[in-house]
Amino acid sequence: MKLIFLGPPGAGKGTQATGVSTSLNVPHLSTGDMFRAAIKNETPTGLKAKSYMDKGQLVPDSVVIDMVRERLAMDDCKGGYLLDGFPRTVEQAKALDEISTPDAVINIEVPDEKLMSRLTGRRVCGKCQGTFHITKLANEKTCPVCGADLIHRDDDKPETISNRLRVYHEQTAPLIGYYQGNGKLRTVDGDNRPEDVLKAILASLE
Ligand code: AMP
Repeated sequence: MKLIFLGPPGAGKGTQATGVSTSLNVPHLSTGDMFRAAIKNETPTGLKAKSYMDKGQLVPDSVVIDMVRERLAMDDCKGGYLLDGFPRTVEQAKALDEISTPDAVINIEVPDEKLMSRLTGRRVCGKCQGTFHITKLANEKTCPVCGADLIHRDDDKPETISNRLRVYHEQTAPLIGYYQGNGKLRTVDGDNRPEDVLKAILASLE
């Protein structure tokens, strides 16, 4: 199955994508994770992406589309994929339709006022990529799963978050209309317990 996850930053796309990709046995492709890995490895793509990410802006379409095209051509995507964080503009959605048309689009909805506290309190494990909220952690510095250091992403600081939310509403939310038109959109309430959101997503795909 070829799936796309849509939703504002902090909606829980990464957490849910991990659960759904395991259930459906398709690779979880997060463009944000790909960029963070590229920045860490100082690749040409990472160098191009860094200044945009630091400001909470979108990386230019051409850079993202080339990266996704290359990734989708790999063998593990032959039986399907789950794209998390792509497409984020109508231009990217049109490019994806030419590369590989998705079967379904999951739109995870969460009100803006909840997103700010979710993102400022978010900590990510630098090793296993697990995502946690400080209210659920006994120790804010250490991953409860693998014991590695937890990171407070630079783009999860309040000044960058408001920019990311603005960018989402201006550039990514129009994709809801784009996919509504072709009957592939499934909207799920993301303001629930993660396990209930996962159930709702899997039910919407049956
Ligand atoms: P994420 O981890 O999905 O929140 O992405 C982190 C950052 O990576 C975003 O704020 C953008 O700067 C960049 N990014 C990730 N995916 C895309 C995309 N599809 N188009 C443009 N920029 C992206």
